[in-house]
Amino acid sequence: ANYFLARIAESKELNAFVDVNVEQTLLQAKAADAQLADGSATKLTGVPLAHKDIFVTKHWKTTAGSKILNNYISPFDAHVVAELGVGRAGMVCLGKVNMDEFAMGSSNESAYAGPTKNPWDLARVPGGSSGGSAAAIAAGLAPASTGTDTGGSIRQPAAFCGITGIKPTYGRVSRYGMIAYASSLDQAGPMAKTAEDCAIMLNAMAGHDAKDSTSLERAKEDYTKALGKTWSGEPGLPLKGLRVGLPKEYFGDGLNADVRTAVDAAIEQLKKMGAECVSVSLPKTELSIPVYYVLAPAEASSNLSRFDGVRYGHRAAEYGDLTDMYKRSRSEGFGAEVKRRIMIGAYVLSHGYYDAYYLKAQRIRRIIAQDFQNAFDACDIIAGPVAPNVAGKLGEKVSDPTQMYLEDIYTLSPNLAGLPAMSVPCGFGDHGMPVGLQLIGNYFSEAALLQVAHAYQ
Ligand code: GLN
Repeated sequence: ANYFLARIAESKELNAFVDVNVEQTLLQAKAADAQLADGSATKLTGVPLAHKDIFVTKHWKTTAGSKILNNYISPFDAHVVAELGVGRAGMVCLGKVNMDEFAMGSSNESAYAGPTKNPWDLARVPGGSSGGSAAAIAAGLAPASTGTDTGGSIRQPAAFCGITGIKPTYGRVSRYGMIAYASSLDQAGPMAKTAEDCAIMLNAMAGHDAKDSTSLERAKEDYTKALGKTWSGEPGLPLKGLRVGLPKEYFGDGLNADVRTAVDAAIEQLKKMGAECVSVSLPKTELSIPVYYVLAPAEASSNLSRFDGVRYGHRAAEYGDLTDMYKRSRSEGFGAEVKRRIMIGAYVLSHGYYDAYYLKAQRIRRIIAQDFQNAFDACDIIAGPVAPNVAGKLGEKVSDPTQMYLEDIYTLSPNLAGLPAMSVPCGFGDHGMPVGLQLIGNYFSEAALLQVAHAYQ
């Protein structure tokens, strides 16, 4: 832990960490030593990690990247924090890492603390919203981190920073203590250097939790069990018998040529390992953007109503009556992107527009989920790019939100369908920036995704 604390202290220019508490980290390291001595240790005991600032923590501030939660300290730890922490898995928390405000963004530029920088090129964004998590791992400030993914926030920053991350099936990991953005899409997952590290962490993170009503009641699984095994279970090529679906909509005009070259090379590699590629279609891919950007803001506008200046966080210094206090606290506390989404959300849910926007989006969401099921009739997993481009320059897309939203084209639909999906580093594109290969599986196929990613790595 001391090694990483020193790395964090000397890497301030990355702006990856938003809160550290050295004393608490060292206390946890001691507790982990005790766990190692008393026989209750797991594979993770003593391994340091960072938590995305969306998970509430007793010993570190939790701001969710927003001024409205500036200096907020939670009275309890999120489920994921508790499960990974001392006394359970035994990991040692190094602190909290930066993120887009309330996880709304793809570049980390909506963070109240200012954007994290991409360690591969400090003039570029790390991706978002879990940009702090990805940058911290890529720069060697932490061996692992938690992330959350509502529309790509684990996979896209993992791709931009050249690390591995997995968004599990919706409901696999408890959302208790994870500040809500769009509750029907939000899912937590591990981010680390390799698929193997992610699998070990997922073992500790996943599982039923009665405190989250959408948590799945399924038996615990060992996500490391298939690592290193052949797909068929027989000796021979590692991926023989695996059918990889390539959605034609993921390789269209919008895809940058260098990103495509890197992804194609990765797919060739899967073939060399015995996989068979088939062409599949996800016809509503393009609609995932308008559908997501109706549904996510709708849910956000409702979730964010709790930040009213009364219960927690920022309260305006001067105000008239109660309504004025709400207004001023929220106007001062929320940033531009969050306000934009609250307004979109309130609009699409309002009487007279509900049917035209919200209901219609829900219907298309259903079709998107069905399209994946049709594709999985012909293949075991789906492969494609994570994002159409490599990490852009800081400031490049900030003033054009629509342009920013379009970059989410390949990552949104797995969330809309609730499917597990991951990002695996697969070489480099323009300007020597990392590229990610996306693997999407059917419900509950995390072990298979991690197996394929591990074989590839
Ligand atoms: N970029 C998407 C958004 O801005 C996804 C973010 C996320 O997954 N949290 O909403």
